[in-house]
Amino acid sequence: MKYSVLEILRQGLTGNKGWQPLWRNPGPKPAYDVVIIGGGGHGLATAYYLAKTHGIHNIAVLEKGYIGGGNVGRNTTIVRADYGQKGNSAFYSHSLKLWQGLSAELNYNVMFSPRGLLELCHSDGQLEAYNRRANMIAAQGDQVEMLDRAGVRAYAPYLGFESARFPIRGGLLQRTAGTARHDAVAWGYARAADRLGVDILQKCEVTGIDIANGKLQGVQTSRGVIRAKKLAICVAGRSSQVAGMAGMRLPIESHVLQAFVTEGLKPFINTVINFGVGHFYISQSDKGGLVFGGDLDGYNSYAQRGSLSQVEHVAEAGMSMIPALGKARLLRSWGGIMDMSMDGAPIIDKTHIKGLYFNGGWCYGGFKAIPASGSAYARLIATGSLPDYAAAYRLSRFESGHLINEEGTGAQPGLH
Ligand SMILES: Cc1cc2nc3c(=O)[nH]c(=O)nc-3n(C[C@H](O)[C@H](O)[C@H](O)COP(=O)(O)OP(=O)(O)OC[C@H]3O[C@@H](n4cnc5c(N)ncnc54)[C@H](O)[C@@H]3O)c2cc1C
Repeated sequence: MKYSVLEILRQGLTGNKGWQPLWRNPGPKPAYDVVIIGGGGHGLATAYYLAKTHGIHNIAVLEKGYIGGGNVGRNTTIVRADYGQKGNSAFYSHSLKLWQGLSAELNYNVMFSPRGLLELCHSDGQLEAYNRRANMIAAQGDQVEMLDRAGVRAYAPYLGFESARFPIRGGLLQRTAGTARHDAVAWGYARAADRLGVDILQKCEVTGIDIANGKLQGVQTSRGVIRAKKLAICVAGRSSQVAGMAGMRLPIESHVLQAFVTEGLKPFINTVINFGVGHFYISQSDKGGLVFGGDLDGYNSYAQRGSLSQVEHVAEAGMSMIPALGKARLLRSWGGIMDMSMDGAPIIDKTHIKGLYFNGGWCYGGFKAIPASGSAYARLIATGSLPDYAAAYRLSRFESGHLINEEGTGAQPGLH
């Protein structure tokens, strides 16, 4: 079924009885050409691009829970291309371009909203560093501009300008950045992949990976054994656990990151804003809730909830940036398990096991990466090589020391 205005009218006039489920609910086949573990954004996008671009249709996506239940449906929905490091900048630049046409590509409204991203500077040194990064972003060909204090005030007058402790000196503004509805991205890719013949198997947990003589054979799952010519790991916060089933030890730790949403308010915040002193970022959802988050909790965890000390820390940073936030009531908070790599950058690569591929280590930034990651991973699986824009994300960088350290915080995942 193709979604269109005419279809809405047709369904409206016929009692809305003809809408079809977004994807089928098939049983597992005994064997597939490609099995993808993880029905998050990256797994579903990979399945879609494998079928659409490379003509491989005999694919299963195995998801232990339900579609959208992982980080793809838990994040703060920020999409941006403001990276300065070689490797990152080309990748996220490409991803932002794919976001711009994604709703049309999938025939599903992912509600991509390029409402801009403002990153605040609070000192001369920070202003200089952001100017340097703005030049790098511009050199990559992406939209960016620097605002002075008056420019920031005109753009976002509700910020706390009177704070003597953290005065606002200026800001880096990327008008093409913004937000998208996170679970719509999962649903849109799932529906589009399903239409191309991909089997999406929910409640199908992978419990073992079968390997013989260094070659992949298939997987053991809660719904039986499934053989596969190629197996693609795409499980975000569970990367170490699942790779461990193949005997691999990864340069990745699992950490919990929390997100928060307030009661619905009238339109108030017109953009996405990053605080320049603490780690705090905020936007307003289309329903009116203020959506925000901060740093990860700082300890290894597989719990999808966080600790109260971090709630306090995030609230303090928010209040320092927008004092009026104190009037809003917090409605919900939740946690997601992040796969933090040692340099804060992701991994997309083959492994030493023939037929086994790995995609993970997305840390804080994997939502915005979904379109570019899916298309790069699909190409790797189909052809054996990565496109240039993702070529820096090989596992071997941890061996050779060519780390992509955007934050400059060293090999400590908890600090990225
Ligand atoms: C609170 C929070 C805020 C964030 N904010 C942003 C943001 O604003 N912008 C941004 O770009 N990024 C953000 N991120 C990061 C981003 O959400 C993740 O990097 C990205 O979603 C991870 O990829 P994914 O969508 O494929 O993961 P997931 O949706 O987690 O998908 C992985 C799936 O694998 C499944 N799985 C695991 N083990 C197995 C198994 N054994 N068998 C079968 N299935 C399995 C899981 O159930 C899960 O559904 C945020 C993350 C969190 C937690």
